[in-house]
Amino acid sequence: MNVLVINCGSSSLKFQLINSDTEAVLAKGLCERIGIDGRLTYQPAGGEKEVFEKAMPTHTEAIQFVIDALTNEKTGVVKSLDEIGAVGHRVVHGGEKFAQSVVITEEVKKAVTECNDLAPLHNPANLIGVEACEKLMPNTPMVAVFDTAFHQTMPEKAYMYGLPYSYYEKYKVRRYGFHGTSHSFVSKRAAEIAGVPYDQTKTIVCHLGNGASVSAVLNGKSVDTSMGLTPLEGLVMGTRSGDIDPAILEFIAKKENLDIEGLMKVLNKESGVYGLSNGVSSDFRDLTAAAAEGQKPAQIALEVFAYRVAKYVGAYTAAMNGVDNIVFTAGIGENVVQVREEVCRYLGFLGIEIDNEKNAIRGEEVVISTPDSKVKVMIVPTNEELAIARETVALL
Ligand code: AMP
Repeated sequence: MNVLVINCGSSSLKFQLINSDTEAVLAKGLCERIGIDGRLTYQPAGGEKEVFEKAMPTHTEAIQFVIDALTNEKTGVVKSLDEIGAVGHRVVHGGEKFAQSVVITEEVKKAVTECNDLAPLHNPANLIGVEACEKLMPNTPMVAVFDTAFHQTMPEKAYMYGLPYSYYEKYKVRRYGFHGTSHSFVSKRAAEIAGVPYDQTKTIVCHLGNGASVSAVLNGKSVDTSMGLTPLEGLVMGTRSGDIDPAILEFIAKKENLDIEGLMKVLNKESGVYGLSNGVSSDFRDLTAAAAEGQKPAQIALEVFAYRVAKYVGAYTAAMNGVDNIVFTAGIGENVVQVREEVCRYLGFLGIEIDNEKNAIRGEEVVISTPDSKVKVMIVPTNEELAIARETVALL
């Protein structure tokens, strides 16, 4: 079956058409500037990337253009819509309602809408994508795959904040965690690579991208993860602060005369390695170059980033009373040799030994620890689209 995987933002829409039997990507692309003007980037497998400027007042036009491109006589990859058997939608927040992916129905859409408060920027956009697809492909089954679902197995002690219990009862204020599709995909694959049953192994996944999170996966179930109610908690990220003393908010609000909106903008968009490096960049290619040139703030940003990752791995080793596999994934985890090296240096006390030649590999599935290392350390490239396609087929 061919599965169309959709990841819809407020003004953008990423897509991949995946053949679920061969797991080959038939075509992929991106609609940008929806509601502004509109641009479609489309690339069939083995073909040239094409960019079309097209008016996209809403997501419905964007999806119509995607369908037109996929079924186009010359560069299309299917003859008609009938060859698209299902659509898998990434949905960011499933709250406590969704511990698994689900086939989308009217009730599901209502339940997702009830989670809008928890992800006001993402969930409404995800639902717009669902409804636009429903309009154009009314007979095609659709599945929602949630970023939060994998972490719904966390025990109370991991997901409760030290706040009045009534906030949990009234508003469901608790830790949810994100990147669940990636943590699930990568931890499963790590068990396969290690040759151990998934339900009998302790894995720590370091998903280090522009957004970054660590998870503890005990016997196939997420038992802790570093993001919280929102993706702001945990690691120092590209532009997000991660964990800070909450009292800093009051302190800075007074000093800089900022309201809550202003503070949230600082924490989400102006902090992390971008803020730490004094605005050099949120991108690790620029940061490592600046650090190599001797720029102190960029050096500090890299040090803080790796130190925070190592501390979370240490904490999750305690949470699981041990660890068998540590996995690096996403843009930074897969590509930045120096970050992996630095994190593993802190973890020497676990009996970890890294093979420097293997660690020099980027973006490929590889075990980077030595055969004598007490913990297997590996790079496993994440593939959230494939994971969504697999979930979609499994459900249907
Ligand atoms: P992601 O959010 O997973 O797409 O990761 C994006 C981040 O990964 C970028 O901001 C970079 O910091 C980093 N990244 C991606 N590719 C590379 C690369 N080849 N070398 C160094 N850093 C990279």
